Amino acid sequence: SFHRILKEEIEQEEHLGRGTRTNIYSGTLRVKSEEDEDAGYSSFQEVKVVLKVLGSGHRDISLAFFETASMMRQVSHKHIVLLYGVCVRHQENIMVEEFVQLGPLDLFMRRQQSPLGTPWKFQVAKQLASALSYLEDKKLVHGFVCAKNILLARDGRGTDEGGPFIKLSDPGIPITVLTREECVDRIPWIAPECVKSTSSLSVAADKWGFGTTLWEICYDGEVPLKDKKLTERERFYETECQLATPDCKELAELMTHCMNYDPKKRPFFRAIVRDIDMLEEKNPSIKPQPTPEVD
Ligand code: ATP
Ligand code: MG
Repeated sequence: SFHRILKEEIEQEEHLGRGTRTNIYSGTLRVKSEEDEDAGYSSFQEVKVVLKVLGSGHRDISLAFFETASMMRQVSHKHIVLLYGVCVRHQENIMVEEFVQLGPLDLFMRRQQSPLGTPWKFQVAKQLASALSYLEDKKLVHGFVCAKNILLARDGRGTDEGGPFIKLSDPGIPITVLTREECVDRIPWIAPECVKSTSSLSVAADKWGFGTTLWEICYDGEVPLKDKKLTERERFYETECQLATPDCKELAELMTHCMNYDPKKRPFFRAIVRDIDMLEEKNPSIKPQPTPEVD
């Protein structure tokens, strides 16, 4: 259910970082131009991409990696990263994705010298909620919603730039094949019910992750529970603790609704989008200027 990319069609470039069991590189994809093909000849266009490389490993992990790829192939949304396809190169499996210029949101926020402001943060929250509402309607689970998996296509800090523009990245390898330690390490992003049993992964788990991500946005990319050891993280959920409440009252309230230990009590993303819209209506100072589209 996903497009196969030939290894000859990609060029691997700079190493950008490591994910869970993956290495990420920038690269180039050569794609046949369809217009030319219709005209009876072929020419190529070069697109800047990201290569997410899973080294040779266990069969279960590869299958899980393909599950993520097939989920990403089912979606088409302006605030979700585009997956071009999957490439099998010798023993390696590679997801070929759209390159997003300004990189991950957490790093971007931490780099800023001057405060990002409430309207900016609201816009990011709203775009993320709209992407997750789209997935919710399609009954698709993302599985790892966090600020590091949100990429920034436009920072929108200039006055005439119409605000930020985000794209939610893929979740990487599903938690169902991660070790217990890797799962515990994802506290406070992973939903509490998923630490107990990874098969509890559902749309409700993404709501919890959305809550944690709101916390990161409110605190300018700070890392929640940063210095906590694995046992302390486990303890945090066992005793049903909550993260510190951010100053931004409205986002804080949304965050607490999402981070309910009872998955059934978490709001629908559709309702969250509506809440954010209403908050903007009631409070014109946080209402952003109309945003020009980014392709
Ligand atoms: P995981 O497998 O755990 O989800 P990952 O493979 O998504 O992790 P990240 O830590 O999210 O890895 O990303 C590693 C780095 O790669 C990021 O810090 C970022 O710099 C870069 N990166 C990832 N995706 C993109 C992208 N689409 N465009 C530009 N840079 C990216
Ligand atoms: Mg990621």
